Amino acid sequence: MSKQVNFGDELVSPEEKTRRVGAVFSSVARRYDMMNDLMSGGMHRLWKDRFVNRVKPRSGEEILDMAGGTGDVAFRMARRGARVTVADINADMLEVGKQRAATRELTGLAWKVENAEALSFADASFDAYTIVFGIRNVTDIPAALREAYRVLKRGGRFYCMEFSSSDWPGFSSLYEAWASNVIPRIGKAVADDEESYRYLVESIRRFPRPDAFKRMVADAGFIRAAAEPMLGGLVTIHSGWKI
Ligand code: SAM
Repeated sequence: MSKQVNFGDELVSPEEKTRRVGAVFSSVARRYDMMNDLMSGGMHRLWKDRFVNRVKPRSGEEILDMAGGTGDVAFRMARRGARVTVADINADMLEVGKQRAATRELTGLAWKVENAEALSFADASFDAYTIVFGIRNVTDIPAALREAYRVLKRGGRFYCMEFSSSDWPGFSSLYEAWASNVIPRIGKAVADDEESYRYLVESIRRFPRPDAFKRMVADAGFIRAAAEPMLGGLVTIHSGWKI
């Protein structure tokens, strides 16, 4: 039997995790952007702006926005002139993204269904690889990091933004109360989907702390792996280089 992995707080087979993560995002796709605003009080917009400022997309660069979902990060990078491929395992999330891009009259984006663990792109295809609030949902994270390394050109940049638990004592208990009690209730009231939002909260709690994830980035081959924690590690921007 294959090794059990966490789906939130439950232990399941790797295949079951991938299937259930798919079901979560298919279920939340239509309301995903509105729910992000409600759950974070609009903060996710500031975090994404800060993230893109770190990536510094340049005109004409090829960027892979992995687990790009409905395109929030990709749109910010495309507006700076980068050629962005939005890749995600979930076709429903990408479909919402394509409609949002059309509404905003944003062109030049490519959309592709891809599993981060086994990409179809050739070696050394991209100048930068970004993954925002996506990697904690991936079943085999080391495999995804190895694939990120493979598809980057020499000199390519890796950037990841992810949640974890915060180590600021007062703030972390406040966040815990919000995450455990309020977020699933907003999920129920607004999207009639308490379970999906409970999973999102549990997956945040289980994601490695910034230093541990930094070591995983280095283990995949990236040099100068760095972590920039915000809010005591509740949100961290990770980076690394391929030489
Ligand atoms: N990056 C977007 C953002 O910040 O708004 C979307 C983040 S959303 C929380 C997580 C995304 O990860 C979902 O769209 C989900 O389908 C995707 N995902 C989960 N597992 C994946 C995998 N193995 N490969 C690619 N995408 C995956």
